[in-house]
This record gives sequence, C-alpha cells and structure tokens, in this order.
Amino acid sequence: MGYTVSVDAKKCIGCGACTAECPENFELVETPEGYKAKPKKAKFTDDRGLDKNKAAADICPVQAIIVKKA
Ligand code: SF4
Repeated sequence: MGYTVSVDAKKCIGCGACTAECPENFELVETPEGYKAKPKKAKFTDDRGLDKNKAAADICPVQAIIVKKA
C-alpha cells in the first residue's frame, strides 16, 4: 500500500505547524502569496512515514493537508 500527500496552497496560511510536526516531509517555501507548505515527497509506495504525515494533516489548523491511500 502507498499513499499521496498534498497541500492545498489556497488554504495554507504558512503557520509552520506541519513542518514542526513532520520536518521529514514538509517544508515552507516562499511564494508571491507568502509562505506555503510543500511536501518534500508527494508519493509513497509503502506506508513508511504515513503516521507522521497523518499527524501533520491532523495538526493543520485549516485542514490544508490531504493524505490519501493510493
Ligand atoms: Fe500550511 Fe497547514 Fe502546514 Fe500551517 S500546518 S503551514 S496551514 S499546511
């Protein structure tokens, strides 16, 4: 089983909570609209790191992170 991770940039407010929770897979990047979170890796072919990515999604105050089983 694998999964995908994405961030809805329109929702993201650049708070940095996900990068603190899961620095392994989230970073903040500067955009014309301010800082936005970005997954370092969007596609996983196994469940490695799934819990940490889910924890980042859970902690996001605006539900901008989508973790989906592939
Ligand atoms: Fe953006 Fe949510 Fe990450 Fe905050 S926790 S930087 S709002 S994706």
